Amino acid sequence: MTTGRVVIVGAGQSAAVAAHALREGGHGGAIVMAGRELHRPYERPPLSKAVLVGAEEPRLDVLAEEAWLRCNVELLSGADVVRMEPAQRRLHLANGQAIDYDQCLLATGGEPRLLAWAPCGGERIHYLRTLDDARRLRLSLQARPRIAIVGGGFLGLEVAHSALAAGASVTVIESAPALLTRFLPAEVSAWLEATLRSEGAQLRLGASVSCAETTGEGPLLLLTQGGERLEVDELLVCIGMSPNDALAREAGLAIAPGGGVLVDAFCRTSDAHVYACGDCASQLRPGQQQPTRMESWQNANEQARIAAAAMLGSAPPVPPYPWFWTEQGRHNLQMLGLPAADLVYVRRGDPASGKALWIGHRGGVPVHGVALNAGGELRALRPLFDRARPVPMHEFGQDNLNLRAWAKQSLADAAATP
Ligand SMILES: Cc1cc2nc3c(=O)[nH]c(=O)nc-3n(C[C@H](O)[C@H](O)[C@H](O)COP(=O)(O)OP(=O)(O)OC[C@H]3O[C@@H](n4cnc5c(N)ncnc54)[C@H](O)[C@@H]3O)c2cc1C
Repeated sequence: MTTGRVVIVGAGQSAAVAAHALREGGHGGAIVMAGRELHRPYERPPLSKAVLVGAEEPRLDVLAEEAWLRCNVELLSGADVVRMEPAQRRLHLANGQAIDYDQCLLATGGEPRLLAWAPCGGERIHYLRTLDDARRLRLSLQARPRIAIVGGGFLGLEVAHSALAAGASVTVIESAPALLTRFLPAEVSAWLEATLRSEGAQLRLGASVSCAETTGEGPLLLLTQGGERLEVDELLVCIGMSPNDALAREAGLAIAPGGGVLVDAFCRTSDAHVYACGDCASQLRPGQQQPTRMESWQNANEQARIAAAAMLGSAPPVPPYPWFWTEQGRHNLQMLGLPAADLVYVRRGDPASGKALWIGHRGGVPVHGVALNAGGELRALRPLFDRARPVPMHEFGQDNLNLRAWAKQSLADAAATP
């Protein structure tokens, strides 16, 4: 049993899961959680979905009441940690309080990237990261406004669907010529675009906004770099996230080249008493040349469990194959693995029918799976991704194929091949 004091900085998804894993793993000492927000740890994925359109706000707690109480966490809400002194194992809060730790877990997440001319908190200007942001946006959507969304990434598109469902008139402005092609095969990108247009959204692809003018109580005037003037009532900026790594950076801990607290496979930072997990961490995984950050719910949970195991000195859970989901209106899109430029995609089903599955493979080895309203089928294929052996991809699209039997047989054949 470990007995020292663990201080978790941040009180979000990974903080709660780490506290739970610490207690489940037998940590008997104090767990202090210092979070800037005034809420108990809550789930962010519904903020762009059900929170914006549901009749009532859904329950968002990361841990059910009983599990939270069992964690016996001393939660400091509204507590902004502004400095850490690793040599003293001490943290300083904005209110002047100092907290000593035996082990510290940085679970600070990230902040939305800002557009210089669109100040956070500005009249009719929205960013979306917190529950308070979502509540404010929900309130604005109730007036069925004309809303422009700058950024056609997963988050921006999720909100576009939610805003349409709320009766808003939606324009998405995306600087790339097509949607999400860094993450999805071209066919899925085209499907996303067609779906949004058919549901009534205006898309400006290959366009960017250079500035906005307000006229007192009146609408916002957006000027695109192509010279178009767009008049809207609300503006949402969704252009990505920056990891909250300032505490670690200023304390002299190693930071990954692209930002994020650098951690190893066990979520250990360059300081022996400090760990990091979730959106703020950039992890060097076995077999990878470069550390990577993954801004996903699954990653936050898994890294939290890995960090807790490392703090307890126990064996870490095996990290699962990366998995991500998004809800685009009534459509569920799931991804397994990560895309790469050299993958060849094969498809099963027809996106026009509302259900399809793609596998991106390298020489027959499945690397990236994408499921449109077919999450169960993708789950059945998971062992193919885990084993990373070549399978007969030319058979994948066949109409009469029993997918589960094919996956099983392909694995057996691959295992029998030396
Ligand atoms: C709107 C939205 C929708 C999403 N939808 C999906 C989805 O559909 N699928 C998916 O896989 N992922 C989704 N995600 C991503 C997922 O929610 C995040 O990856 C996850 O919340 C990261 O957890 P975290 O603990 O690292 O950070 P967070 O949950 O952001 O928690 C970090 C906390 O630390 C606090 N903090 C930061 N700095 C300090 C400090 N110095 N002192 C004290 N407290 C501090 C912050 O205020 C915050 O409360 C979504 C995210 C958002 C915002």
